[in-house]
Amino acid sequence: MRQKAFSVLLIVLALSLFSPQVARTGEILFQYSTFDALLAGLYEGGLTMAELKKRGDFGLGTFNNLDGEMVVLNGKVYQLKTDGKVYPVADTMKTPLAAVTFFKADKSLAIPKAGNFQEMTALLDQALPSKNLFFAVKIEGRFKEVKVRSVPRQTPPYQPLVQVVKKQAVFPLKDVEGTLVGFYCPAYLKTVGVPGWHFHFLTKDRTQGGHVQDLALENLTAQIDTLPGFSLLLPQNQEFYQADLTKDRLHEAEKVEK
Ligand code: ZN
Repeated sequence: MRQKAFSVLLIVLALSLFSPQVARTGEILFQYSTFDALLAGLYEGGLTMAELKKRGDFGLGTFNNLDGEMVVLNGKVYQLKTDGKVYPVADTMKTPLAAVTFFKADKSLAIPKAGNFQEMTALLDQALPSKNLFFAVKIEGRFKEVKVRSVPRQTPPYQPLVQVVKKQAVFPLKDVEGTLVGFYCPAYLKTVGVPGWHFHFLTKDRTQGGHVQDLALENLTAQIDTLPGFSLLLPQNQEFYQADLTKDRLHEAEKVEK
């Protein structure tokens, strides 16, 4: 028995030594549920913050009942609500949609100037070796402007996200120090992840933030982490089992993100 366990261990060791193509833990984007499920109004998931933090120390998402925007930074989870404030998050709180990774930059990109969100993401696009992998991006420093939004807590029966964002709260933050936390998701997974670039922002003093709608910055550096691995965990509840996820919601996705 012990010998069998030992040979299994040897095989695992051999695989990890001689398979450089296999993504290691730090190179995997972990995601819970799908973007389309959130668009459809599935705002209750079963994954706790304690479980989420085992899968990464950097990321974003939302909370059950769609109660605000989530930022995960340096292993801590922050809740950014529609009152414009940031709240501490208990390990027992749950999420219906979140994505995290163990952030480790493998390249950096100096951004001399970006007048808006499109200008920044165009520069990031040019720096990517491929548009077919996942990437995590962290940008820290003083921003000229960051326009963030948060979504209001919902109660059942839930409305689709495109309806809920009509009641979002928007906060234009000027001359503000903080961190942008974001991911790039390839277009071929547009129903699973948020297609393209998706950023959340948290101020340095951890008092404000949200989902980034627009921004302006000068002389900042983007740290980029290439993520060749993707791990998806799906909710195990009746709402997810019964949901109709066949509908094309791409136009809803565009409205929700912009
Ligand atoms: Zn967001």
